[in-house]
Amino acid sequence: MNYNKKTVYDADVKGKKVLLRCDFNVPQDKETGEITSSKRIIAAVPTIKYLLENGAAVIACSHLGKPKGEWKTKLTLAPVAKRLSELLGQEVIFASDIIGEDARAKAAALKPGQIMLLENLRFDIREEKNGEDFAKALADMADLFVSDAFGTVHRAHASTAGVAAFLPAYSGLLVDKELSIMGKALDDPKRPFVAVLGGAKVSDKINVINNLLEKADTIIIGGGMAYTFMKAQGLEIGKSLLEADRIDYARDMIAKAAAKGVKFLLPVDNYCAAEFSADAEPVLAEGGIPENLMGMDIGPKTAALFAAAVKGAGTIVWNGPMGVFEFERFAGGTKAMAKALAESGAVTIVGGGDSASAVEKLGFADKITHISTGGGASLEFLEGRELPGVACLQDK
Ligand code: AMP
Repeated sequence: MNYNKKTVYDADVKGKKVLLRCDFNVPQDKETGEITSSKRIIAAVPTIKYLLENGAAVIACSHLGKPKGEWKTKLTLAPVAKRLSELLGQEVIFASDIIGEDARAKAAALKPGQIMLLENLRFDIREEKNGEDFAKALADMADLFVSDAFGTVHRAHASTAGVAAFLPAYSGLLVDKELSIMGKALDDPKRPFVAVLGGAKVSDKINVINNLLEKADTIIIGGGMAYTFMKAQGLEIGKSLLEADRIDYARDMIAKAAAKGVKFLLPVDNYCAAEFSADAEPVLAEGGIPENLMGMDIGPKTAALFAAAVKGAGTIVWNGPMGVFEFERFAGGTKAMAKALAESGAVTIVGGGDSASAVEKLGFADKITHISTGGGASLEFLEGRELPGVACLQDK
């Protein structure tokens, strides 16, 4: 897949109306609806400022939550418009609908340097269904399309891909950063290229492992998914997470790595527990795991082995925690991995989701080259899949 896409810098935006797909899917307080983190709104500001300062009128749009085509007052984007307005220091005109009369009238009246925000795209079922009429109605309000919501580029929705059939499409600065850093890591990585994979399930990461086996020099497997691989090697794994229907696959991957000369590292010791609980007493097991215990985190020898494997790497990609890091007693392996990445001197890329929040929570975020803003999108990126929201952008 070609990641070399035209960006806002390649577009002539002066005097143009720009439909800007943002990721304003912010976390909210369940009771009050108050925005609990403005991180995503702050992240959108550079592209918005660039467009406004260069004479464009911006029609921003986003989804929020999962209203599934229903008009849910709790999921209105009105609070986002307010917060964005505070951040930009200028009015953000809010449309009370998406492609209705209010939105169209406000878009038509919008002047260069002004910004408006449409109501939650997913209030209309045609957004997620990529309805052509809906995409065309969105596009009709604007002259150009800019995609800056990396978290949704793996979806073929009206506002992420459909609109590009009607408008010249460019990447925003956030999407461009994701594409240039992750695209380069996959296409032309500084070597050695080490991939660190963890998290609960092998089945979620099968395509990632398949793709990375073609590209990486070392693959490190930790977290719950490691036990299926240990089982495939003939080790006992007690009550640990196991995907019995993936054992053959795991065995094949180990053999394939050996045949290709890719180092494939698995845990050699684990902190285990008698039950899945935050208060469980950690028991260290070397090699296999005793019958009555379950693996909860990588052990100290494994942490040292994995840290040594990332030391001296040119590029490191990490997706998925090394253990049940939500439980303080079993967060040590994930912490050790975050520290090893931070100290590696390599180009370090952390996929979205749990590993991203672990790195942030543990205070290593500023020592990582790039933390992806998209969980699902970054996984599909690592799978080497074509992302509809990227494929639809103009090539450079
Ligand atoms: P994923 O979404 O696939 O990246 O998985 C993240 C989840 O995997 C986290 O909630 C972790 O608690 C969980 N996890 C990691 N290691 C283990 C383990 N050894 N046993 C059970 N769950 C685990």
